[in-house]
Amino acid sequence: MDTLTVRPGLHVFRFPVGQAYLWHENGAGGADGALTLVDAGPVGAGEEIAAGIRGLGLDPARLERVVLTHAHEDHCGGAAELARAYGAEVVAHRWEAPYLRHETPLPPPVLLDAELPIWEATRGLPPAPPTRVNRLVEDGDPLPFGGGARIVHTPGHTPGSIAIHLPLHGVLFTGDTVAVTDRVRLGVFHIDREAARASLRRLSVLGPAVLCPGHGETVTEDAAAALVYAAERDGGL
Ligand SMILES: [Zn+2]
Repeated sequence: MDTLTVRPGLHVFRFPVGQAYLWHENGAGGADGALTLVDAGPVGAGEEIAAGIRGLGLDPARLERVVLTHAHEDHCGGAAELARAYGAEVVAHRWEAPYLRHETPLPPPVLLDAELPIWEATRGLPPAPPTRVNRLVEDGDPLPFGGGARIVHTPGHTPGSIAIHLPLHGVLFTGDTVAVTDRVRLGVFHIDREAARASLRRLSVLGPAVLCPGHGETVTEDAAAALVYAAERDGGL
């Protein structure tokens, strides 16, 4: 795992597959030292993330919440461990919670031919353990961090996929609706591709200054334009 600082108060922990974003309220100019994690990396990532938090001079005991963009194992794998160790609240869309809790199996993605090689190359991650979910959210719900975070429901990748928008800071966490490779684009491995394309179009109107994708590099320059371009190319905007 390596740690990158995107901007003051925003860091990313990167794993061979998967990444987790850390929001530090003080570092971003807020009034307290609370920490929020967006996604939690693959199974076993919890201890590494805690070490990464310490490496930034912060205390993982200040981890107040883990917001999960969706129930894939490379995003929620470390969540149960972190929630147990630090008492953090786990936040997810109400449609995604049954998958995270293992009450219902998550439907498999409908793969395009072009996605098959990537699918084969990235399979083999251990499945995530069941994860408790303390707070169920839906579209438009606020969360108390980043000057007022807003949930954006982005179904398609999975039924309860969400993005998290921090309008005050111009930061957008997209989950796997968006990936960054050679450019900003629609992610891969969607359960309902047409719905994912519609979700990408929806995100493209938010005009973020900082785009934090589910996979790939964070975009801090011309992010809004790159997202609109992705929606035109891949989303049918
Ligand atoms: Zn995913």
